[in-house]
Amino acid sequence: MTSEGSAVVAGGGIGGVTAAIALRRAGWDVVVLERAPELREVGAGLSIAPNALRALDAIGVGEDVRAAATPSWAAGNLRLPGGEYLRRADPEHDTALSCFHRADLHRLLAARLPAGTVRTGATVTGVSTSAAGATVRYRTAEGEYEMAAGLVVGADGIHSTVRATLWPDAPAPRFRYTAWRGVTRPGSVWPEDGTFTFGPGAYFLAHPIGGERVYWALGVHADTPGVRYPDNLAEVRRRLTGWHRRGRRAARRDTRRCRAAQRHPRSRRAAHLRPRPGRAAGGRGARDDARHGAGGVPGRRGRGHARRDHR
Ligand SMILES: Cc1cc2nc3c(=O)[nH]c(=O)nc-3n(C[C@H](O)[C@H](O)[C@H](O)COP(=O)(O)OP(=O)(O)OC[C@H]3O[C@@H](n4cnc5c(N)ncnc54)[C@H](O)[C@@H]3O)c2cc1C
Repeated sequence: MTSEGSAVVAGGGIGGVTAAIALRRAGWDVVVLERAPELREVGAGLSIAPNALRALDAIGVGEDVRAAATPSWAAGNLRLPGGEYLRRADPEHDTALSCFHRADLHRLLAARLPAGTVRTGATVTGVSTSAAGATVRYRTAEGEYEMAAGLVVGADGIHSTVRATLWPDAPAPRFRYTAWRGVTRPGSVWPEDGTFTFGPGAYFLAHPIGGERVYWALGVHADTPGVRYPDNLAEVRRRLTGWHRRGRRAARRDTRRCRAAQRHPRSRRAAHLRPRPGRAAGGRGARDDARHGAGGVPGRRGRGHARRDHR
């Protein structure tokens, strides 16, 4: 293969296959090198924001993704651990997130690539560049190989080999949050169309992802990477003690798929969100809460202003 017009994507996750779709659309001859023995996404759910959908439109897959997505109003249904709503989603003004099980989205995207585009069992071990282009080194069960490329995309994850070889002095990723993620049944969280709860140093979210599945995630502030827990589910339950009941129940029901701790950088700010004294989320929120028999609007505690919703 000559390097002109040929691109190599290191990593066949959601980012890698999406990059490959985009490059092919722009006329590149693309090979994706994925170290896993088979092409599949692991993990739980994923929400796609409207701006990301527009990016998918630009590469010709937006309509397919929309059609397969389940809408979630989690970004509008914002709660506090006591159950109070900071605000309720307003379909007239909010836009739903498009939610998926990661495996479903990955399968949909990967199906857009012609057979042979992705080479599994191929671990990228290094990249070098020259005036003529780049050379990608990779290893398979059969041996070590090199491939010339006019363009290399490093989509090989947070511990990227491409980044480490091309920019050895780049600062290492910073880890601020540990997340547990799982898939549970509908009815475990309220409201069922998605919710986001912010507590001190932690958040809990849930998105419907179709197929009688609800994706949930608990993220907690944690600077130290590599901490492992003997019983992840027990740890999730412990950390949600005192939070509104539906959040706890989601974690309780998920007995099989609670994933090992996964560290990832996230903004600290949201986790420390508090209701501002005497401030309500607006008349709409109050009306909705009354209709749902839920807990009123956020306000200062102890003033009878906000009831708690322990659902
Ligand atoms: C808890 C959590 C929740 C998140 N939720 C959302 C969300 O709701 N919405 C959103 O948009 N984003 C979300 N993100 C971010 C998003 O999930 C990631 O940015 C995205 O999955 C990254 O995809 P990727 O394909 O770039 O990398 P990865 O998913 O890490 O995939 C990397 C791929 O590269 C392969 N690979 C690694 N090394 C090599 C190598 N040397 N050679 C060949 N192949 C290699 C791996 O096997 C893997 O297949 C979340 C992240 C976390 C941690």
